[in-house]
Amino acid sequence: MIQKAIGLLGGTFDPIHVGHLRPAIALLERLNLSEVRLIPNYIPPHKATPDSSPEHRLAMVQLAASQTTGLVVDERELKRDRPSYTLDTLKELRAELPDTPLCFLMGMDSLCQLDQWHGWQQLLDYAHLVVSHRPGWQPDFNANISALVKAHATSDAKQLSRQVSGCIYLFDNPQLDISSTHIRNCVKEGNNPQYLLPEPVLNYIRDKGLYQLPVL
Ligand code: ATP
Repeated sequence: MIQKAIGLLGGTFDPIHVGHLRPAIALLERLNLSEVRLIPNYIPPHKATPDSSPEHRLAMVQLAASQTTGLVVDERELKRDRPSYTLDTLKELRAELPDTPLCFLMGMDSLCQLDQWHGWQQLLDYAHLVVSHRPGWQPDFNANISALVKAHATSDAKQLSRQVSGCIYLFDNPQLDISSTHIRNCVKEGNNPQYLLPEPVLNYIRDKGLYQLPVL
């Protein structure tokens, strides 16, 4: 019997912010998910090395999750000690949860660049993709992504609980122009990023002196 769906949100989370958290909470409700797992990656394959250590990024994700019903932290990628491939994570989760719909949440920037991900054509064998709109990223896809979306798109949220994988759902979310890069730059420049991220996460950044320019 098919179980209640869960959400998965992978990211560098350097730091975690409201642009991650609002879509996660809204999708928890829209898709009637039992939980959303926040999965910090160890080394992101597509991005520059994170500014802060895996330990700091994990601590900030834990602070955010501990404040929010329905959000939990999954540390599996940090324990792997090698580049974090989403496909490996989805294969592991599918083996653990054979009858649970897995909804992998991502922003439009990620979908637009999905054909650069390791094993991207197999992702939908293991999970649904649920995509939040993000300022600066239009759904004008290249040929690979267009074909993928055409083959898998559904506008019926209930379809994601009727099958365990294989759908792409574009979420009509209010767009939030927030990024970790912007927050890191705010801190570096001595500006105040309050309300772009949870207060305890900002206190942690200040406490540990993260994202400060090195004193020469
Ligand atoms: P950076 O600025 O360092 O590149 P980021 O803000 O994009 O980081 P990530 O941790 O890389 O954050 O993002 C994890 C996932 O969350 C990605 O799928 C990304 O598309 C999505 N995401 C991040 N910010 C937003 C946002 N404001 N709206 C919708 N999705 C977002």
